Amino acid sequence: MAEEMRIVLRNYGKIDPLKIDDYIAQGGYKALEKARSMDRETLIEEVKKSKLRGRGGAGFNCGQKWSFAYQAQADQKYVVCNADEGEPGTYKDRLIMENDPHTLIEGMAICAYAIGATKGYIYCRGEYPHLVGILNTAISQAKEKGFLKDFDIEVRSGAGAYVCGEETALIESIEGKRGEPRFKPPYPPSEGLWGKPTIVNNVETFANIPVIVEKGADWYASIGVPSYPGTKVFTLTGDINNKTFFEVPTNTTIRELIYKYGGGIPGGKKFKAVQIGGTSGAFIPEELLDTPVAFDNMAAIGATLGSGAVFVLDETRDIVDVVTRIAKFFEHESCGKCAPCREGTARMYEIMSKINSGKGTTKDIETISRLGRVMSCSCLCGLGQAAPAPVLTTIQHFKADYHAKLV
Ligand code: NAD
Repeated sequence: MAEEMRIVLRNYGKIDPLKIDDYIAQGGYKALEKARSMDRETLIEEVKKSKLRGRGGAGFNCGQKWSFAYQAQADQKYVVCNADEGEPGTYKDRLIMENDPHTLIEGMAICAYAIGATKGYIYCRGEYPHLVGILNTAISQAKEKGFLKDFDIEVRSGAGAYVCGEETALIESIEGKRGEPRFKPPYPPSEGLWGKPTIVNNVETFANIPVIVEKGADWYASIGVPSYPGTKVFTLTGDINNKTFFEVPTNTTIRELIYKYGGGIPGGKKFKAVQIGGTSGAFIPEELLDTPVAFDNMAAIGATLGSGAVFVLDETRDIVDVVTRIAKFFEHESCGKCAPCREGTARMYEIMSKINSGKGTTKDIETISRLGRVMSCSCLCGLGQAAPAPVLTTIQHFKADYHAKLV
């Protein structure tokens, strides 16, 4: 059984986040010094070799992404931290920023050196106003100590739009525009903020960087599942005894997350389903619980790792009702820029409501399945592409629950 292992939460509870000296006493900013003594190609190769993959959910190779921005020719480059943690049930990035803001700043500064950026932004979720002060204090302390000589970081606050967690909508928002996704390509590493090469990485991704630089790529690559090494922070919610968080190596199984770390289902009730990765995640049935929580293993069962939210439902839960509420969330959060998402999320909620209220037919299940498949491949961004996952996976794994509600 995999044991809990703290890399990104290594300083959790050990330091005062408002005291840079506490961070330095734990070895903080040594990795930045080491990184700056390396040449940029070697540093990027090291990050690539660690096989660190994006912890925001998409799992793109981090070093590979950095190499695109490094190679791009431009007079200005940017490093942006996506801290717009909007996925319901997810608070891993908040934990890192609240308890150890310097690990994020150090990770961003290493990235800035690697790609040749002089300016960075932390785009912080609007619902986390208390973090702005913590981050600004940490940034000024790092400046005073001389760690940010050639790199300036600014904190920007979001305004509550879920879609701004999508990297190009986030970029538009920093530019002062309405938060709507752009067409990709071009991807931000070649054309991002104000058209310049931009690295957008999640908080958890950046928080891994100082440790990778310090301990080396081979050490990191040897942890967990080789295709998605390292650890992942999970936040447990729903019908689970331990409603808390854990950082575990990626060879941990979903079953271990629920029963070993989560302490199982309260009240002696039976497990019904788990949704991993937030509202846009797949619902997973009992027979798939032995899957490791690594990107490709999850993909093989038609699921995503997403943001690492773990939402457990016991046997008494009405799964069709839960999915209807999720459909309402997506209808509300769709930015409306592209028709498949604007219309699709509205129709999806309409049909789910019909089924949930006992007025649906088998034809409605066919229609919503077709609609979901069309949205997954035609929506402009991840919001609309992922919105059908809860509907499609519950129809796949919990069909009887739908049929029990039909006329
Ligand atoms: P994506 O696969 O399009 O891109 C992932 C990253 O790799 C991006 O930064 C992108 O710019 C870069 N990239 C991809 N191809 C590239 C290329 N050819 N050249 C250069 N760079 C390239 O995914 P996405 O749309 O950024 O993210 C979708 C994910 O977001 C979903 O998997 C979902 O799980 C996750 N998500 C997370 C949250 C959260 O709160 N953390 C919320 C909703 C969704």
